[in-house]
Amino acid sequence: MLNRRSFLMAGLTSGLPSLVPSAGFGAPFTLGVASGDPDPGGFVLWTRLAPEPLAEDGLGGMPEASVPVHWEVSADPEGKRVIRRGVQVAAREAAHTVHVEVRGLPPGTPYWYRFKAGPHLSPTGRTLTAPAPGTMSWPLRVAVCSCANYQHGYFTAYAHMASERPDLVVNLGDYIYEQGSDHLLGPTGNVRDHASPEAVTLADYRRRHALYKTDPDLQAAHAAAPWVVVMDDHEVLNNWTNLIPAERRQNAFRAYYEHMPLRPSARPGGTAIQLYRRLRWGRLATLHVLDTRQYRDPHLCGAGFSSCPLPPGPSRTMLGLDQEQWLLDGLRSSRARWDLLGQQVFFGQRDRDPGGEQLVRQDAWDGYTAARLRVSEGWIQADARNVAVLTGDVHAHWAGNLVTDYDDPASRPIGAEFAVTSITSGGDGHDIAPGTDPLLAANPHLKLHIRHRGYLMLRITPDALTADFKILRYVSRPGAPVQTAATLTLPDRGQGLTGLI
Ligand code: FE
Ligand code: CA
Repeated sequence: MLNRRSFLMAGLTSGLPSLVPSAGFGAPFTLGVASGDPDPGGFVLWTRLAPEPLAEDGLGGMPEASVPVHWEVSADPEGKRVIRRGVQVAAREAAHTVHVEVRGLPPGTPYWYRFKAGPHLSPTGRTLTAPAPGTMSWPLRVAVCSCANYQHGYFTAYAHMASERPDLVVNLGDYIYEQGSDHLLGPTGNVRDHASPEAVTLADYRRRHALYKTDPDLQAAHAAAPWVVVMDDHEVLNNWTNLIPAERRQNAFRAYYEHMPLRPSARPGGTAIQLYRRLRWGRLATLHVLDTRQYRDPHLCGAGFSSCPLPPGPSRTMLGLDQEQWLLDGLRSSRARWDLLGQQVFFGQRDRDPGGEQLVRQDAWDGYTAARLRVSEGWIQADARNVAVLTGDVHAHWAGNLVTDYDDPASRPIGAEFAVTSITSGGDGHDIAPGTDPLLAANPHLKLHIRHRGYLMLRITPDALTADFKILRYVSRPGAPVQTAATLTLPDRGQGLTGLI
């Protein structure tokens, strides 16, 4: 067992060449630490060296040289019982970020980790390994979040998420917003400032990620638990499709990978980034992380709400054919009690027209109905025991039953969708008087709609998936307390959602 003192001395005693003098940069751990994508034997650890996180060139005020970053994983929060350690070189090419894959640890166990560069010691993060394959271990507590526009509010919801110490945090996208300072929230304006124009270049995207990561509440949420992340649109550009310039996509993907606790298998190659993947929690749950941006067909009628008159072709795709096949194969071979589909845009129908017209959001699965039906029928044919879709993007809490025919009131539930509200995007939010929501009235399969900021806390057991809809009453100033606005349950092999509305 390695001791604490030897870590503090690392760099002096490791025998590695000290690639830069330790006095070559100031305190570098301004962006915190993170971990991600746990499996039964390990996880990935992340940090970035950035003594001047907002430096114009996006390089964080680091010298040109590569820097050895020492890491250690301990069995205790104080770092006394060190069980793994190593060194990874942080290079300027990667904006002095590191992605350390730790392997060979015992399953189902919490760990603590930290880094050291030169004489500087990072904060400590908590992470864990997934349960052993084939075991039924519960409860699994998952915090789900999305849509954190820095300009729209304080990240208080992240601090509350951190204090819940979940097993996993699932981030469904809009982790950053690309918009410039001149992009204003409604008539009230912004409460914080990106202090830079719209992100386009690699330096822009790196500085934007760095700005977000300087937020202490976001740092606390990363330090509290391993994250599973996937991007939506604002990591690149609002409602982007493959029609945007390749160079901008490349810049956005590269900066995203650099700043996220993603495994190196997600390192982008040019204009592609591999984000769809599977995480298993023993036999209790499998999380299928989906990418609904990179492989979709273009919008037929723009991204907004409309009743698109153009006939959708039967082969129209949201996931791309490879990912769709990968998902259905995964559901067929799944032995999990719960199959969770972590993805970006609204899956079930959401019709704004109470009459016979369909006024639906074309950027969501409502604009890709043939694909939705193929996936839904696919999971029925795969005999998946319980399917829950986790959704971001909509800046409101929603929950609803999923069916195969949304226009047939007798269509039986085949799963449920839980859409998480934003951390800040949209600002403070507002109440909807009970019984007055025209959207719930027009969509009987939808059961809940709350327009406040917050996050979702899921508690998953062999018998049920229970979702607490957490809200904050304001984000325009710091310090809002957190409340549970509603709780819904999806019972094992149940016929849809039950619980308080
Ligand atoms: Fe958003
Ligand atoms: Ca209608």
